[in-house]
Amino acid sequence: MESKEKELIDYLKELVRIPTFVPPGENYGKIVDWLIPVFEDFGFRCERIEMPEDVYGARQKSAELSGERVNLLATKDFGAKESVDIYTHLDVVPAGEGWNTSPFEPVLKDDRIYGRGVADSKGSVASLLTALSEMNEHELESKYNLRVALTTDEEIGLYSGLCFFADEGLLQGDYLLCMDGDNEGICVATNGVMNWEIKVYGKSCHSSVPFLGQNAIEKAMQVVEDLSELKREVESRESKAPCSSYMTEATGQKHTKPVFNVTMINGGVKENIIPPSCTLCGDRRYIPEEAVEEVIKEFEDFLQRVKTKHGTELELHYKPGFPPMFTNPDDEWVRRVQDAASDAFGVYKEIIGVQGGLDVAYAVQKTKQPVCAFGVGNWIESNAHGADENVRIRDLKDYVRFLVRLLT
Ligand SMILES: [Zn+2]
Repeated sequence: MESKEKELIDYLKELVRIPTFVPPGENYGKIVDWLIPVFEDFGFRCERIEMPEDVYGARQKSAELSGERVNLLATKDFGAKESVDIYTHLDVVPAGEGWNTSPFEPVLKDDRIYGRGVADSKGSVASLLTALSEMNEHELESKYNLRVALTTDEEIGLYSGLCFFADEGLLQGDYLLCMDGDNEGICVATNGVMNWEIKVYGKSCHSSVPFLGQNAIEKAMQVVEDLSELKREVESRESKAPCSSYMTEATGQKHTKPVFNVTMINGGVKENIIPPSCTLCGDRRYIPEEAVEEVIKEFEDFLQRVKTKHGTELELHYKPGFPPMFTNPDDEWVRRVQDAASDAFGVYKEIIGVQGGLDVAYAVQKTKQPVCAFGVGNWIESNAHGADENVRIRDLKDYVRFLVRLLT
């Protein structure tokens, strides 16, 4: 094994062995303390930044979380004219079941490395360290001053370490590279997310005399039926953001779309009680061209009509998620990232949008930085968030090459 490859794999193994799964997210301090001397060796100035208790308590803390929210900001001034913020998250999702290897003891097998977080997104952290080491060794100066932000709680939301960095003014680069994501294409657009809950009310009574009450489940079914009209309307829209060619192949759609789903239904007390209430939940993902106020107004107006039509008593609640993100595909930064990635991987990397959401969208809504997301895993084979998460060694090495090309 060549020495750089060994260094890369060793970094990744060390990172995976520190179990930063969230919930609970207990080992952020440990992983940041491991990273600091490594970055310092490459001439970076490191700050260990803990989210203050009052901010954490107000915006993120929950019963399932424990430990401090420790983030890393590593900066190096190369005397360059422009600067880049490089971001990804240090947390991973819990191991879950069904693994053939031990999730936090990485294993090399058939030119892949297996372990929780190797693709999402510790592989990109290990690649960055290897790229910096290579630049150091060959005395390659970065074209940009670098600010590396490695942060907490992306996988659990809603107020991740990156959101805190954005609010604190710690993201200051002319450009932002998000290393979270897969290596399918250069992602410039995401949807915003609005989770919703509709509580439908009825009136309970003995089920043998249902005419004395009102069955909330039956009323809710009617609401679901009516919502399909809103779903059709919403999903007939289209963003100008292109979707990946795989997505086009699978769905025929060429651009990303808004999404409307009913994803949970909950109601009833007992078999012989007419249910007094029923709750419907779902998500509404909106494209960058839709304003959140319009999304809310459209939903409220629609439900008002449903209410009037059937005389149904219902309440609507929202849980807002990340906003949408859109960087102009013709932006200079996008072109530079695309060129470096296509070069390093030896295949043309397309510019894409996705219908999911990212915490980086919250950050750039604040900072207005041009941003691209391009990560290390293969979005089908890597099985991020699943059992046997893995990444090809070749993809890691190509990603190192991509970083060196982009930065030098
Ligand atoms: Zn991720």
